[in-house]
Amino acid sequence: MKKLFPWTSSAEGRLEAWLAKQHEARVYSGETTPVGSCPDDSFLRELARKSKSIDLLDQRIDHVANCAKCLPRLTLFRTELRTQQRRWQLALAGAACVILIAALLFVPQWSQRRHENASSNVAVSKTVDLWNAGTYRGQQPAARKALVLPARKVRLTIILPEFSQSGRYLVAVTRDQAGTDILSEAMANSIPRGNQQTISVLLDLRTIKAGKYFLSTTYEKAQAAYYYPLRIK
Ligand SMILES: [Zn+2]
Repeated sequence: MKKLFPWTSSAEGRLEAWLAKQHEARVYSGETTPVGSCPDDSFLRELARKSKSIDLLDQRIDHVANCAKCLPRLTLFRTELRTQQRRWQLALAGAACVILIAALLFVPQWSQRRHENASSNVAVSKTVDLWNAGTYRGQQPAARKALVLPARKVRLTIILPEFSQSGRYLVAVTRDQAGTDILSEAMANSIPRGNQQTISVLLDLRTIKAGKYFLSTTYEKAQAAYYYPLRIK
């Protein structure tokens, strides 16, 4: 709603301020006579804090309003309080900014990491073809091209070398060709596919660091392991 006399409130405010100034000047020059004795600072501080809900019938307030000693102290406490409040507001605003910046910086990373963790739980399917590897059995493994697998959960399908027998196989990822340091292993029965034998195992390679390893297959009945160079990336 539009005000009928828009100038009134500011004019009244100015008049009030002027009257207060006049009164203050009279108090400071000792023209007023306060009633009673000066209240202590704790009362003045309380008054500064609760200036909006004071009991005007309290005689001490009447004293403060007319005392050349108490009035400046009340003004001082009010200024102190206002400065303190402003400092708090600034500190809070600063803290809010820091939290906001931290959130903007870290939340995307965190959610991405969560997403990565979630996706690393899902096994990826990989196929390793060793069909022709049998012909290299006499060679040094290093001469063969390394197989490559990711450091994740892998649903690994192995096409076994030609002439491999059907049956149960142990598949392992090892650090060396002695097979003493097994990093991940699984057993499975071979599945005939056409004239080939395949095995399908789930290997958890998530904790294995990128580097050179060996993939070994051991036929249960022969207990002889074959090692194939493997690179985890
Ligand atoms: Zn006083």
